[in-house]
Amino acid sequence: MLKPRSLIAGLSPYRSPIISRDGLSLDLNESMAGCSQRVLARLRSLSASELSLYPQREIGERIVANFLGVAPEQLLLTNGMDEALSLLFTAYLGAIGNDGNELLFADPTFVMYPMLGEALGARMLRVQSGEDLALPVADMLAGISARTRLVAIANPNNPTGLKAARADLLMIAQSAPDAAVLIDEAYYEFCGETLVDALAQHPNLFVARTFSKAYGLAGLRLGVLIGAAQQIEYMRRISVPFNVNSVALACLEAALEDQAFVQEHVAQVKEGREGLQQLCGELGLRFWPSQTNFVLVRVGSTAKTFVESMQRRGIVVRDATANPGCDGCVRITVGTPSQMDGVLRAIRDVVAKML
Ligand SMILES: *Cc1c(COP(=O)(O)O)cnc(C)c1O
Repeated sequence: MLKPRSLIAGLSPYRSPIISRDGLSLDLNESMAGCSQRVLARLRSLSASELSLYPQREIGERIVANFLGVAPEQLLLTNGMDEALSLLFTAYLGAIGNDGNELLFADPTFVMYPMLGEALGARMLRVQSGEDLALPVADMLAGISARTRLVAIANPNNPTGLKAARADLLMIAQSAPDAAVLIDEAYYEFCGETLVDALAQHPNLFVARTFSKAYGLAGLRLGVLIGAAQQIEYMRRISVPFNVNSVALACLEAALEDQAFVQEHVAQVKEGREGLQQLCGELGLRFWPSQTNFVLVRVGSTAKTFVESMQRRGIVVRDATANPGCDGCVRITVGTPSQMDGVLRAIRDVVAKML
């Protein structure tokens, strides 16, 4: 019988993150506003040769580098940020003995970090946030040792929506000079704070971005990894040359040029987020003030019932209970203003019936 590597055989079976596409999907932090019309127009203008020839990632990298104000050598375009994470983790973690193979992160955070760490056989040092779910900076600093190879931090964080202080993130980067320190800025546009400008002073620092959230292009799969040119070159060595497809590359410029679309979408999300948080406060539900396009809400021991009741009303939200420290919590993506009226009504209704 054919057997994979024992490490692979020991992993949990794959399950799609998509639970249901019936109704309004507020469980994956996708954009409910769609994407820029300029991107759609570019898609419609694709020529046969753009599809028949292999893609030139380098052209897209120059465009994004220029947009971000970094050198093209400092940046790698990837098939969604997920691939950037996979390349980064593969470059620094892995089978190099049990010493010096440690991944450090704080729970609760993005599920891909433990998934990738496990797949690579890394040792994992997970520190736990307190009741406020804020980044436990002192514990993170205390967790850094000669074994640390990678520190992964989502800022703002998923599933909490919270952001950490810039000075704390830089202190962590400074305290782990021999480890890669990743700041995952998937929700940057909703928050406005970045560490891209600190990359020059911190050769072990990486910032990752995506077009999946504020740009509304999750289906195109476009991610960005930025870091010191010398380190990015290692990731380029292990990346397949045609990881980003021509269709995604063709849309890149139109997506970046339409900042008016991004800004309007972000403004609407902030408004919707405010309304959702206000309702939670009114209903006496604990929530964590969000810097993203979703809100984490504690609905009580009834999270599963809440999710099911919302689903019966045509709204899919995420049960966040599995995240350490998120007992009884759900994560709700902010929809468009017209969707949010119905969402708020449904929440009111479900909470009233649960009490
Ligand atoms: C959504 C998300 C990503 C993944 O983005 P893709 O580019 O779609 O792979 C990465 N990190 C965090 C924290 C996210 O929430």
